[in-house]
Amino acid sequence: MRKRRLNKKGKILLLIIIFIITLIVLLFIFRNDNSLFNQIINNNKYSLNIYYEKTGINDLDKLIKDKIIKEKNEFIKLSKQNDSDNKFDFIFDAQMQKYNDCYFIHSVIQKYVGGAHYERIDKSYIYSKKHKKYLTINDFIEGEENMQKLSLMIKHKIYGISYDKDIELTKEEIENSTAPNLENYEHFYFNDEGITIIFVPMHVFGWSEGETKVTLSWNDINDLLKKEYKNMNYISDNKTNITPKTRDINTLKGKKVIAFTFDDGPNNSTTTILLDGLKKLDARATFFVLGSRVSYNEKVLQRAYEEGNEIGSHTYSHKNLLKLSNDELKYEIENTNKTIQEAIGIIPKLIRPPYGNINAKVKQATMMHTICWNIDSNDWRTRNRNKIKDEIVNHAYDGAIVLLHDIYEESVYGALLAIKELKNRGYEFVTISEMSELKGTMLDYDTTYFGF
Ligand code: ZN
Repeated sequence: MRKRRLNKKGKILLLIIIFIITLIVLLFIFRNDNSLFNQIINNNKYSLNIYYEKTGINDLDKLIKDKIIKEKNEFIKLSKQNDSDNKFDFIFDAQMQKYNDCYFIHSVIQKYVGGAHYERIDKSYIYSKKHKKYLTINDFIEGEENMQKLSLMIKHKIYGISYDKDIELTKEEIENSTAPNLENYEHFYFNDEGITIIFVPMHVFGWSEGETKVTLSWNDINDLLKKEYKNMNYISDNKTNITPKTRDINTLKGKKVIAFTFDDGPNNSTTTILLDGLKKLDARATFFVLGSRVSYNEKVLQRAYEEGNEIGSHTYSHKNLLKLSNDELKYEIENTNKTIQEAIGIIPKLIRPPYGNINAKVKQATMMHTICWNIDSNDWRTRNRNKIKDEIVNHAYDGAIVLLHDIYEESVYGALLAIKELKNRGYEFVTISEMSELKGTMLDYDTTYFGF
C-alpha cells in the first residue's frame, strides 16, 4: 500500500512537472509569436493588411492593438455590406523610431470603404519608458518661447518647401498649420539628425503630396529642449574653441541703447582700429561680413567675435539678392554661413541684405533674421569722420540701428567719435541680439528690422 501511494504521488508530481514545462514552452512560443501583430485577409468583399511590430512595452502594444482591432472590426462590419464591384481595403502600418528612452510610433490606417478616395487616419504614440507615460511635444521643448522658436523655424522650412514645389500657399494657411499648438505638432520623432515633424496629407499640402517631413538639425534645436532630452552626444559645431566674452545684459536694462552695425568687412587694418576703440569704450557692435572677405581677414573676425561683438552675414559677394536665381541665392547664403562657421564656430543668425534689398521670397530661402537700419551715417559718401559723427549723433535715439562700413578708416574714426559723445549722453552700445532681448522682441523670419 505504502509503495503504491508513493508511486501515485510520484506520478502526480511528474504530471505537474510535465504540465509546467509544457506551459513554459507554450508561453515561450506564444511570446515569440506575439512580437508581431500581422494579419492578411483577402476575399471577394475586401482585403485587409495589418502589420505591427511590437515594442515589447505591454501598455503601449495593448493600446495600439486595441485600436487596430476596433478599427478592423468596424471595417469588416462595413465590408460585409459591400455590394459594389470595388473591393474595400484596409491597411495598417506603423513606423517606429527610438530615441533615448522614448518610443515614437506613427501609425497610419488607410482604408477604402466606397466613395471617391481612401480615408486616412494618423495617430502618434510617443512613450517614455523611464517615466512610463505618453508624451507630447511640450514634454520635450522647454517653455512657450522655445516652442514659438521651433514653430518659426518650421514655418520657414514650409515656406521653403512650398517654394521648391512651386505650390502657392497663403500666409494664413502656413501660419495656421505651423502655429505652436499640440495639433500641429502631434506627429514627430527624434533621431541622430535632430527632430522631424510629420505633417499628414491635407495638413499643409494636399493629398497628392503625401506626408511632409520637416527636419530641424540638433544644431537648430538642442538649445530649445528640456535638459533631459538635450542631445548629450551632440558636439556643437563650434570647433574653433572661441569662447566669446559674455556680459550680463540686465545691467543695461532701462538704459538708452544703440546698435552700431558695420558692413562689407572684415578688413584687417581698419577693423582692428575699430576693435581697439570699441574695447576701450566698452562698446559692442554687429559686423555684417562678406563671405568672400572672411578667409583672408579671419583673425580679425575671430577677435571681433571673441570680444563679444555679433557676427552676421552680408552674403558672399554683395550681389542684389532680388536678381539671383535659386541656385545663386543658395550659394550666396550657404557659402557665407559655412565660411563664417569655419572661422568662428557658429552659423550666423542675422543677415543684412546688400543694398537693403530683400523680399518675402528671399527671406523664405534664407532662414535668417533680416536686419536693416534706420540711421544711415552716409559714411561711404562723405568719408569724413566729423560729418559721419554728426550724422549719427544728430539722429540718435534709444533702439536705433546705425549703418556704417568698417572698411573705411574715416568711418571707423567717425563711429568711435560718435560713441564717445553718445556715451556722455547716457547711451550704451549693444549688438543686435542684445538689443532685441533688451527690447523684448523675439526675432522672426518675416520681419525686416530697421530698429527696435
Ligand atoms: Zn554692403
